[in-house]
Amino acid sequence: MKNKIIGILGGDARYGYLGSALAAEGFEVWAMLLDPPDMDPTVHRAEDFRDALPFCGALILPTPVCKDGLMLNAPFWPRERGREIGQFLEEIGKSTIVLGGGFSPELRGIFGSKELRFTDLMELEPLAVANAVPTAEGAVALAMAQMNITISGSNSCVVGCGRCGRALARLLAAMGSRVTVTARRPEQLGWIEAQGWRPLETVEMHREAHRWDVVFCTIPAPVVTPAVLEGMNREAVIIDIASAPGGTDFTCAAKLGIKATLAPGLPGKAAPKTAGLILRDIILPILEERGMTR
Ligand code: NAP
Repeated sequence: MKNKIIGILGGDARYGYLGSALAAEGFEVWAMLLDPPDMDPTVHRAEDFRDALPFCGALILPTPVCKDGLMLNAPFWPRERGREIGQFLEEIGKSTIVLGGGFSPELRGIFGSKELRFTDLMELEPLAVANAVPTAEGAVALAMAQMNITISGSNSCVVGCGRCGRALARLLAAMGSRVTVTARRPEQLGWIEAQGWRPLETVEMHREAHRWDVVFCTIPAPVVTPAVLEGMNREAVIIDIASAPGGTDFTCAAKLGIKATLAPGLPGKAAPKTAGLILRDIILPILEERGMTR
């Protein structure tokens, strides 16, 4: 049986809410390199990570775990106080349950060399599905801030019909937009039509590009190409939510004067509390299954 100490090392605003929610569940939660204003006082703040990290039964790392190479993703911690991932790994016990989102191949190698096991939360389907909703809302809010017309009555295009694409299309349609959704598989195109949205093969986008006031790209491959961009209205707005570098040719968009924004980390920015509670709901069963009690 594991102890009931959970460490949260780094992370954005949603990790503050996650800490508060886990403390409310009866765990002893220690925040390291994490000090957002809204975190509940029942969460312990460790001034020095060495005071807490070696004692954690479970450790929760950010999403993505690292930024800028091997620097811990810790936006609430001054850069000059040190974020190199190696120093933290020295303090993690071999039996500690380690969870985090998005381990790069390099980071996987380092964990492997230290014989530390981890669960990559980004690989869990229920988390991706749940995050599609705050992602879609955040993307639409970003678009609205840049558009000079309403979503209602607009012509929108959602590029890709995966989890985020479907959540976006549903939201846009509910707001009164005429929605085109692109896909490459015939069965998906049929499904799009059945939803009452306008189906379009992704490779055919250039033929209809002139119609759209706003485009949401969800495909992590180069699909919003110069051919598509050249056909677009120069007042149109593109929000690209796909993982970096996105699916849009940003250089070409800038040359043409089309506003195109790559928008990473939307759940944490648009709805950090919801995103924190989504993480709690995913993490609690994992901790229970691994024998961690409160
Ligand atoms: P998903 O369910 O896997 O959907 C991806 C879609 O892209 C699928 O419809 C897939 O089509 C299509 N696709 C992939 N490669 C393609 C290619 N080469 N050509 C044409 N279509 C292609 O993923 P998701 O959960 O919706 O996430 C979409 C993207 O957003 C991912 O990159 C994800 O990392 C990112 N994301 C970003 C945020 C944010 O905050 N910005 C939040 C969540 C997710 P098939 O089904 O035919 O393969």
